[in-house]
Amino acid sequence: MSIKNLVRPELQSLQPYSAAAQVKDSTRLNANEVPWPNSADHFQRPLNRYPEVRPLELHAALAKRFGCATQNLLATRGSSEAIDLLIRTFCRPGLDNIVTTAPTFSMYQHYATVQGASVREVVTLPDEDFVIDVDAILETCDESTRIVFICSPNNPTGTIFSRAQLRRLLKLRGQRSVVVVDEAYIEFSTEESVVGLLAEFNNLVILRTLSKALAFAGARCGAVIAAAEVIEILDAVQAPYAFATPVVECVLEALVEERMAEIDSSVQRIVTERERVITALRQFTIVKRIWPSAANFFLLQLDEVEALLEQSSNDKVLIRYFGGDLSDCVRITVGSPAENDRLLAVFRTTEDSLR
Ligand code: PMP
Repeated sequence: MSIKNLVRPELQSLQPYSAAAQVKDSTRLNANEVPWPNSADHFQRPLNRYPEVRPLELHAALAKRFGCATQNLLATRGSSEAIDLLIRTFCRPGLDNIVTTAPTFSMYQHYATVQGASVREVVTLPDEDFVIDVDAILETCDESTRIVFICSPNNPTGTIFSRAQLRRLLKLRGQRSVVVVDEAYIEFSTEESVVGLLAEFNNLVILRTLSKALAFAGARCGAVIAAAEVIEILDAVQAPYAFATPVVECVLEALVEERMAEIDSSVQRIVTERERVITALRQFTIVKRIWPSAANFFLLQLDEVEALLEQSSNDKVLIRYFGGDLSDCVRITVGSPAENDRLLAVFRTTEDSLR
């Protein structure tokens, strides 16, 4: 069966926007561009010309980095755009729903709300290390569930969803919904990407980003990886000329093979710091619990969360507080050694002030 049947019926035969043809060495009088560049323009492809509707070289470089065929990948403006595209493509406003876990990245819920799709949450528990129960997900899905979002490693808990559990979920949801695995932080874990499962499951969708391990958040570039027939529709839904020429050029430079060792060592430095900071934080009496993390952040539970938040705000060391079910927790991103030392100083000052 085709997974395309899950797409909103009105989009199933949507064709890509028909853009002005771009032909090498041609006289371009078909796109209402100005024939000469602006004097501020220093790009290889001058900015008086539109960028490619879909930058081919960028797609090839991303497919290489993420280990898939180009027909299985669409470059997106961060994985945020991929989340939006997926929900707009699969969910009919007022009718369909997505299933997410809680706590997780809030953008799944945000874009579902924008689209008028409802959100069904499967709660994961601090005392069970926020492990996701596949049976609970299956029970939460109904006939209107179009997408299940799994974030692994999960933001903000750092939890990994095991490959065995994913296989079970993909199998049991079958052709009834797509399962999106958001791998934004995968490089910081010891797990491999689940991209290899794509050949076996046409309901699997994977999100990757250059914002984390690649240290390229400002460039706004990520990718959605899925069955070719899903990519074709997402491609038709995405805005034409989505990637500006400066972004394409700087991302291609960041993805050259020789730089990959540099990325690996940067990731390794973050992982080493993560373990150093976690070990140091365990010495403070206000720290009740730190959950194991496979990402470049970790979640910790505190005895005196207000005092710590006040001190960190005074010292201008920014950490993330969510409230709600995580009202005595904070999420802390692993920074440089100097930044992490400043964080440890905040904990020291807080504890001293409580004596
Ligand atoms: N997924 C997860 C789990 C995230 O935490 C984030 C950013 N915080 C994103 C996706 C989106 O990142 P970007 O749009 O920069 O790729």
